[in-house]
Amino acid sequence: MHKQIADRLTVWQAQQLRELPWRRDPAGARNAYAVWVSEVMAQQTRLSVVAAYFNRWMEQFPTLETLARADQQEVLKLWEGLGYYSRARNLHRAARIVASECDGQLPRTRAELLSLPGIGEYTAGAILSLAFGQHEPVLDGNAKRVISRLWDIDARIDLRSTESQLWGHSRKMVEAASAPGAMNEGLMELGAIVCRRRNPLCDSCPVQSFCLAHGRGVQEERPVRAPVQQVPHVEFAAAIIWEDVPGQSRLLISQRPERGLLGGLWSFPNGAREADDEDLQVCLRRAVRESLGVSVAVGERAAKVEHAFTHFRMTLTAFHARISAGEPLAVGVTNWCWTSLDDIEKFPCPVPDRKIIAALRDFAEST
Ligand code: SF4
Repeated sequence: MHKQIADRLTVWQAQQLRELPWRRDPAGARNAYAVWVSEVMAQQTRLSVVAAYFNRWMEQFPTLETLARADQQEVLKLWEGLGYYSRARNLHRAARIVASECDGQLPRTRAELLSLPGIGEYTAGAILSLAFGQHEPVLDGNAKRVISRLWDIDARIDLRSTESQLWGHSRKMVEAASAPGAMNEGLMELGAIVCRRRNPLCDSCPVQSFCLAHGRGVQEERPVRAPVQQVPHVEFAAAIIWEDVPGQSRLLISQRPERGLLGGLWSFPNGAREADDEDLQVCLRRAVRESLGVSVAVGERAAKVEHAFTHFRMTLTAFHARISAGEPLAVGVTNWCWTSLDDIEKFPCPVPDRKIIAALRDFAEST
């Protein structure tokens, strides 16, 4: 059954694959660097969003060597808005390792690829099969859904035993495939456009006759998901610290520590409320002291923005502020600087801070 499914998916892939920038290759074979970049970008992100980022990325960093030579701030700036910034930092670090230790060529074994920052089992399988034509399996969210349904796997998808069952089927299929890259891509693409999470298009499915879940009428109950966890909500306060210098007002931004959420990006100094009853202005004075070692006089509210991360939802309230005592130092941040509302564009900033900047600009234009 694995071979028959693999053959059908390979044929279907050739007919149905959506055109995407990283799938165009004049030389016929996929460029390993392009496969790597696109697969990392596509994790947790819709392909329609990825395409624009991918094109900009390849214009600025057309080869692995150009990426390896780039400054981390350039890399983060280009990634701005895609989220999960550790992906960008790891791509950059891995490119530097490959450039210096592997003669600029991505390794061709799973073990060597897995030793690079940010490359996990899925990305390694994608590079090996799509770029190098190796019989190596892949397992992204789409492939998991298709395999769960084909073999009607009724165990919870988040269990390690289920994961290894899914990898086992994926491996058997790719080992039986005549064109491993095309088969793997067909498997993932089928999950993206036919075997959708809701309302799968079983009547248009090339492997319907093999699908146990469809035969039993339980396809929408597969995969079996873990119970939904409540996503916590956290309140943050941010300071827009102003300073007047001749000819302009400038504002202070700080660079977040490399490790941790949004590492390496620039944001308005901020901190999370420590208790539900902590006053946001008190929270803000504490956060600024801890990050910059200065006291601030907190003024009026400037903006309030909402943002959802994977593990929590944030409400960020920004206040105008001025330093009342002390000179800023990088105490709990990597760096800090004064900038203007125009020049802030040059810095990679998280989405919530971009929303605050937009609110500041709207206010400046209306006055
Ligand atoms: Fe998915 Fe339906 Fe095809 Fe089964 S028959 S693999 S449920 S689209």
